[in-house]
Amino acid sequence: FVKSSVIEGTQPEGDSDQEDIDAKDILKRELQDERKTLPIYKFRDELLKAVEEYQVIVIVGETGSGKTTQIPQYLHEAGYTAKGKVACTQPRRVAAMSVAARVSQEMGVKLGHEVGYSIRFEDCTSEKTIIKYMTDGMLLREFLGEPDLASYSVVMVDEAHERTLSTDILFGLVKDISRFRPDLKLLISSATLDAEKFSDYFDSAPIFKIPGRRYPVEIHYTKAPEADYIDAAIVTVLQIHVTQPPGDILVFLTGQEEIETLQAKIFEPTPEGARKVVLATNIAETSLTIDGIKYVIDPGFCKIKSYNPRTGMESLLINPISKASANQRAGRSGRTGPGKCFRLYTSYNYMHDLEDNTVPEIQRTNLANVVLTLKSLGIHDLVNFDFMDPPPSEALLKALEQLFALSALNSRGELTKTGRRMAEFPLDPMLSKMIVASEKYKCSDEVISIASMLSIGNSIFYRPKDKQVHADNARLNFHTGNVGDHIALLNVYNSWKETDYSTQWCYENYIQVRSMKRARDIRDQLEGLMERVEIEICSNASDLDAIKKAITSGFFHHSARLQRDGTYKTVKNPQTVHIHPSSGLAEIRPRWVVYHELVLTTKEFMRQVTELKPEWLVEIAPHYYQLKDVDDSGTKKLPKGQGRAAL
Ligand code: ADP
Ligand code: MG
Repeated sequence: FVKSSVIEGTQPEGDSDQEDIDAKDILKRELQDERKTLPIYKFRDELLKAVEEYQVIVIVGETGSGKTTQIPQYLHEAGYTAKGKVACTQPRRVAAMSVAARVSQEMGVKLGHEVGYSIRFEDCTSEKTIIKYMTDGMLLREFLGEPDLASYSVVMVDEAHERTLSTDILFGLVKDISRFRPDLKLLISSATLDAEKFSDYFDSAPIFKIPGRRYPVEIHYTKAPEADYIDAAIVTVLQIHVTQPPGDILVFLTGQEEIETLQAKIFEPTPEGARKVVLATNIAETSLTIDGIKYVIDPGFCKIKSYNPRTGMESLLINPISKASANQRAGRSGRTGPGKCFRLYTSYNYMHDLEDNTVPEIQRTNLANVVLTLKSLGIHDLVNFDFMDPPPSEALLKALEQLFALSALNSRGELTKTGRRMAEFPLDPMLSKMIVASEKYKCSDEVISIASMLSIGNSIFYRPKDKQVHADNARLNFHTGNVGDHIALLNVYNSWKETDYSTQWCYENYIQVRSMKRARDIRDQLEGLMERVEIEICSNASDLDAIKKAITSGFFHHSARLQRDGTYKTVKNPQTVHIHPSSGLAEIRPRWVVYHELVLTTKEFMRQVTELKPEWLVEIAPHYYQLKDVDDSGTKKLPKGQGRAAL
């Protein structure tokens, strides 16, 4: 079983020869028959009538009933796409891609033509596109270019129950435009039953329920809490395999790393017979439906972002899920017949320890990005924005403060020229600021390469178990001169470019080709955006300080200083942090560093670290740092010649 083949869905087919076309016709006919078996099919006409009659409808239906794939097609068949595009938003990129692929197959068209998708850094749509699946974040960005969404006839905000930050902001924006665009239809669709809340928010919009087709699900709990839920999950998979009748197994884990550990382990003994085991993150909870699942294993955890507005620190932590999530997970086993769900926690835990619902993202995240977007949409009065659930005012204030420090807003809270430019980039404000600042330091060429490499996250280098030493040496080559992790990323990108983007070179250096190609795509797009904001691309490769100053211009909030005990303390809101062992500077330990992000594993680690000179902080962010913040006298007293590592 390969996770990606299940989760990424089917690829579009090429249209080459006649045989292929015949095969496609047969497939299309089969798919048309399959469409009619979905629970939603019986309600097609009734639903279309409701859409005709009302401007806003809340739709509720069990996962797998056909909401995402069918409703946009029904609207197309009923002629809505003649008046404008149908947008359908998804909280997750993978879901947007996979569903678009499925629907293009059902309609027998090439993906990217009539049916397409748009996710950050990847636009698979064309002039022809009439049904557009997109992440909620991308629709939010479309408001910047088209504030009334004039090219759309219907907007379907799907997976509304997920309450992602972008979805919550979309609620406010679409509600607003629906008032002056009576021709625009709004569908708010959700997999859970808290539809009343959506209805109330949208001025008592009618609720359209698609009766579920859920078979009974037997719930099993553990007798005592599990110490290691990954181990427990493996044991449960094997127990199901040897004791239970045929049927596939779905295991909910919290992230890629866990999925990889479990796959590696489970491949060791080869179980007799065959049974598909799907390891998935929360994406399989409601966004994607995998057919054939009869057993669900629910360890009861997921990764949740949390934000401390006081310190401005954001972290991704493994947390217990909510009761609502647990019930969605269990439901995945009862779609096509009776199912079983094995909860790797006790019924007492379920009753007493799990919250009813997950806290909406807007209440536990950094809002700088959203505030910048809203400001550039001309929405000034954020306190009175029509939030379904308002964010904590402390978090709003912090976002305003952060944007002011980045010079994106002036002291009256208005967007500055810098802020306007920053808003053009679909990136975190700190990254956009770093890019905009590269103009001043004449190193935009280098800085957009660094930004692209940072945007692909932590998947550039790999370390095969049997070649760890080779892999580490290859990686260290890019760090020659202790240039810091940002410049090392730049070295990787430039070296690859020098080989004319060679795949072989990637293999030789233990670098993921796929990640590099993605970085190149992102870079191309950033280059296009540079033209829009009229920043010339110029190179200043020999002046590393200039590049580091541009980085600091974006990330000065993320500065830390070495302590006597060898740990670091963040400069403002002091907190103890460490350089991540994968950093090229982990052994060097410079006195002052700027970091890209904090990750909490066993400790609070800074990932992607570069040395800085403390005077830069005052020079670059005088409204944020004073001389006393960067007073270096405490560490200067150490006798010369003593190794830094000795600190
Ligand atoms: P809902 O949005 O109500 O959860 P969907 O429209 O996503 O339902 O799914 C309807 C059906 O389409 C399901 O049976 C699902 O298995 C199938 N389906 C959806 N996407 C794909 C895909 N990429 N490949 C194969 N089948 C799919
Ligand atoms: Mg769906």
